[in-house]
Amino acid sequence: MKLIILGAPGSGKGTTATVLREKYSLAHISTGDIFRSNIKNGTPLGLEAKSYIDKGALVPDSVTISMVEDRLAQDDCAKGYILDGFPRTLAQAEALDEMLAKQNTSIDAVLSIVVDDETIKDRVSGRRVCEKCGASFNVKFKPTKIEGVCDICGGNVVQRADDNEATVAARLETYYKNTSPLIDFYEKKGIIVEGDNNESSDVCLSQIENGLKAKGLI
Ligand code: AMP
Repeated sequence: MKLIILGAPGSGKGTTATVLREKYSLAHISTGDIFRSNIKNGTPLGLEAKSYIDKGALVPDSVTISMVEDRLAQDDCAKGYILDGFPRTLAQAEALDEMLAKQNTSIDAVLSIVVDDETIKDRVSGRRVCEKCGASFNVKFKPTKIEGVCDICGGNVVQRADDNEATVAARLETYYKNTSPLIDFYEKKGIIVEGDNNESSDVCLSQIENGLKAKGLI
């Protein structure tokens, strides 16, 4: 099963993708995580990406597309995957279609996570993530048992550099301008499955699983 998860920053894409990855043994490809790990390791890709990420802007398509193409060629993707944070532009979506067409395949479903803007701002400002395993917490809604320590792996739990108010506003603007038109793009292909994540992640997940069942994917 090949999935894309689409949604505004802080809508819960990563958390939902993590649950689905475990439950359905999918490779989880988060372009944001790949960029952050390159930044941490000081690679040339990380240095380039950082200047865009810090502003809440998108890393250029050419860089992002070739990074994803390399990632999709790795062995673990053969069992199916969930793309989290990619595509974010129409050019990326079209490039992905072309990559997959070369292998006579295509995306099975696009999970569209819906959350109101106000809720997003609240969630993003309180979000904290584990540097080691990527688990997501929230100081208000889902605090760690011990401050700064991951409940799951004991790693350091920190605030992402781009989770501040000014950058979040820019990221939301970028999302509406560049990424939300993709919902229409995939709607036309008839592969959207919607999950409402305003109230609870359980409700969202069950809506998504019902949608995947209706398509015969699970
Ligand atoms: P995320 O962790 O998905 O919120 O991504 C963090 C940041 O990484 C974004 O705000 C962008 O600056 C950059 N980024 C992640 N994925 C992409 C993408 N597909 N295209 C361009 N930039 C991206």
